[in-house]
Amino acid sequence: MPSQSQSYSFQRQIETYLHADIIVIGGGPAGTAAAIGAARSGKKVALLEKSAQLGGMGTLANVSIFMPVGNVTGIYREIISEVLAEYLPADHDQSIAPQYSPFLLRQYFNEKMKKENVQVFYHCEFIGTVHEDGRINAVIVSTREGLRAFEAEQFIDCTGDARVAIDAGVPHRTGREEDGLTQPMTLMFMMQNTGKPVTPILPEGCYLYNEVSDLPQGRRLYWEQNNDGSLLVNMSRVKANGAKIEEINYAEVEALRQVYSIAHYLQRTGFETYALTHIAPQTGVRETNQIEGLYTLTEQDVVSGTRFADVVAQTNYEIDIHSPDAKKTTDERHVDGYDIPYRCMVPEAFDNLLVAGRAISATHVAMSSMRVQATCYALGQAAGAAAAISLDTGCSMRDVSMHQLHGELERQGVRFLGQRAGSVQAAD
Ligand SMILES: Cc1cc2nc3c(=O)[nH]c(=O)nc-3n(C[C@H](O)[C@H](O)[C@H](O)COP(=O)(O)OP(=O)(O)OC[C@H]3O[C@@H](n4cnc5c(N)ncnc54)[C@H](O)[C@@H]3O)c2cc1C
Repeated sequence: MPSQSQSYSFQRQIETYLHADIIVIGGGPAGTAAAIGAARSGKKVALLEKSAQLGGMGTLANVSIFMPVGNVTGIYREIISEVLAEYLPADHDQSIAPQYSPFLLRQYFNEKMKKENVQVFYHCEFIGTVHEDGRINAVIVSTREGLRAFEAEQFIDCTGDARVAIDAGVPHRTGREEDGLTQPMTLMFMMQNTGKPVTPILPEGCYLYNEVSDLPQGRRLYWEQNNDGSLLVNMSRVKANGAKIEEINYAEVEALRQVYSIAHYLQRTGFETYALTHIAPQTGVRETNQIEGLYTLTEQDVVSGTRFADVVAQTNYEIDIHSPDAKKTTDERHVDGYDIPYRCMVPEAFDNLLVAGRAISATHVAMSSMRVQATCYALGQAAGAAAAISLDTGCSMRDVSMHQLHGELERQGVRFLGQRAGSVQAAD
């Protein structure tokens, strides 16, 4: 628990390490795409990532399945064509849900960023903003050489938790509107078919699961699409908010207990020849903070298929809410498809900040649908292109011309599907 009795004023002179045109903070799906989108618009881009790899939850937390979104376009489409060509659909509106190797994706991103002229800084954790008069001038970053300032004209927060925006004072909310509870966390793991019986082990502190109903999600959920004997398992569930100190501490310990317990269960119920071979380096975080942007995406938008004049991403991924109470239920509801408007990424109070990825302005239910990787790639690419336009034209992020943005995205290979059901809302 934080001490209520003390606080400190912390002042330091911090050396500037680099000045870029655009700095992207967080190298997950949104951040990698934002960096590429901005670099393709001719900008000097620095991408700051606190871990040792790019890909975000898709590699660090070993999610390693792309959920279907109904519009395979832009940088996401490129990733599919370059890493998973056998899944590339002829038409943009076909749905795919490929499983991939998180290790290969990690390697792919290193090479991709080099080709795209994005300067990547690993082990660089954002810790604070320097801002005045509605502009961010620099971010303070914890590096292997201590604290350093990274300056830029434009900043894109792709930390997933809206860390940069929140530090700068952008209003935000967390989790379910009624009680602030977020979707639970899951530690992904892999098992490998060894071709011979393995001895199930149950380490100290773990649980004996005998029935499906004993399992944390009350279901068996795994994929075995890679044809190499590897099994990807998504079956743990921990009630916790991954952006809270106490809760993440609890989650990392509890999730690992569950992983060993689930592996032990699977080895006795159909996977007798499978060894536990890989546990993700960190427990996956589905939901933490949402900024309050110029527009908040709602459940109504998702279910009614709202179309927006300032569309930057399109998806028909279902409403998918793992029980925030950690009950053994998941609320899954089909949706036909909807647009996500640019305004969801724009915090009102800053001229040179966008937030892309899962932390955009959205309600709890809407977020459960827009959070998947392909959508975050689309949002990131649009944010990168928009930041470049803002810089070129000298306008604030909120005043970026949608005509110009759509033109630039088209130039970068993004295609928006024609208007389907629902209404089109104006961009202002
Ligand atoms: C268990 C689980 C299962 C999922 N299943 C699927 C699925 O099957 N298919 C699918 O498509 N999606 C799935 N998702 C959702 C999807 O993985 C995420 O919503 C998506 O990765 C979000 O992308 P993002 O770029 O917004 O954020 P993230 O992927 O969270 O990436 C944020 C990045 O920012 C970095 N970062 C954070 N803070 C800082 C800081 N202070 N300084 C520097 N860097 C920082 C992080 O290290 C990370 O690399 C799942 C998520 C989880 C947790």
